Amino acid sequence: MDNLTLIQLRDKIAGGDISAMDALDYAINRINKADPTIKAYISTHQEEATGQAIYIDEQISGGQPVGILAGVPIALKDNMVTLFGRTTCGSKMLENFSAPYDAHVVEKLKAAGAVIVGKCNMDEFAMGSSNENSAFFATHNPWDKTKVPGGSSGGSAAAVAAKTVWGALGSDTGGSIRQPASFCGVVGLKPTYGRVSRYGLVAYGSSLDQIGPLTKTVSDAALMLQVIAGHDDRDSTSIDEKDAPVDDYLCDINKPIAGLKIGVVKEFMASEGLDPQVAGANLAALEQYKKMGAEIIEISLPHIQYAIATYYLVATAEASGNLARYDGIHYGHRTTNTDNVLDVYSASRSEGFGDEVKRRIMLGTYALSSGYYDAFYLKALKVRNLIRQDLDNALKLVDCIISPTAPETAFAMGAKTNDPLTMYLSDIYTIAVNLGGHPAISIPCGISEENLPIGMQIITPAFTETKLLRIARMYESTDNFASKLPQH
Ligand code: GLN
Repeated sequence: MDNLTLIQLRDKIAGGDISAMDALDYAINRINKADPTIKAYISTHQEEATGQAIYIDEQISGGQPVGILAGVPIALKDNMVTLFGRTTCGSKMLENFSAPYDAHVVEKLKAAGAVIVGKCNMDEFAMGSSNENSAFFATHNPWDKTKVPGGSSGGSAAAVAAKTVWGALGSDTGGSIRQPASFCGVVGLKPTYGRVSRYGLVAYGSSLDQIGPLTKTVSDAALMLQVIAGHDDRDSTSIDEKDAPVDDYLCDINKPIAGLKIGVVKEFMASEGLDPQVAGANLAALEQYKKMGAEIIEISLPHIQYAIATYYLVATAEASGNLARYDGIHYGHRTTNTDNVLDVYSASRSEGFGDEVKRRIMLGTYALSSGYYDAFYLKALKVRNLIRQDLDNALKLVDCIISPTAPETAFAMGAKTNDPLTMYLSDIYTIAVNLGGHPAISIPCGISEENLPIGMQIITPAFTETKLLRIARMYESTDNFASKLPQH
């Protein structure tokens, strides 16, 4: 069953060839077998999943209509709140937090009949690129267990790559869906900002955060996006469907785009630190597009060199505000070590947050403080606008921009934990997209000599996910990558 794509499994369940209970049993067995060494999951939820699977089987055998994900086992990053179980966000601060409601995406998945089997490990509060910032344990890359799976949605990517589920949701603030997808050899889609409601997603950088799918194939990602996309009143940044209707993402997905114009960013291909094997696989993929009739055009993003610095001002400023709510009083970890109210605040935060989260709260508070606000935060907002304009201008000349997803393949565990700046460079190609709000996808485009997957990123204009998915599918149709995922 694990060689089926999500859509193939869904069709077999809907057709009565496989029951939802069989699919769930299969997923649970795979988790029991593979997860003790991969450690993709913080929690599994067999009881709730069984209830949903039984319900779906009853609906199908009774001839009742079912949703478009009926019976398919799915995992969530542990920063999306659920009525069942805990939502830890990879942090001691929320280790025992039970949410009183379901996130919008969870409601949508349940309504579509998906069976949520577990919640995946992540860097604490989605801050990191390797999953090593989780307060609980690090996740291992299914291709090579001495390597990281990427981050911060590394648990979700590893869960799909290890074939324990057919799809997972992650969140992406600066690259956290795409970079782990690239490191684990799966597809990762960050939709346009505003396409998917953030209601019930634990906030990190609210103007950057976006939820999206991780799957084995492009069509599977399209199907999951179909389920979670759409307006939601409870998120004020959710786009009105009159302004940007939710398309049928699957209907034309296999139609190649005639006369496709691909922009290649001159600053990216010349950037220091780009692994030659990653560059080589990306160039070969571009050749493949050329064979399919595409034209390659060199473009420039003049302000791209400021993207990382801009992101680490905007994201940390927003994080310092968003994380102020964890004060030991309202909810989250509360210290037992003091009887003085002021110390309750500081001791609870000192005990509850890890080092990287503390570093970012301090950086963000500093950038927002009186006297530094204009010099840092305000300037970062201006540069953010220039970066967004660079992308918009380039995307007027071409249909899409293609670049490597990350400068290298999955790195060794521990290799960057003592050097946060090097870790930050992992997102050098993905971060500008969050600053601009555009949609982007990472798809596998090769395997390195060390047998690690290589990813390619495709970026299109805001709210053109249909086109983005079609362009991704064009390449994917030449290379059945999903069949190369490692066996466990
Ligand atoms: N790696 C980046 C960071 O540490 C991006 C994280 C993300 O997208 N959530 O902030």
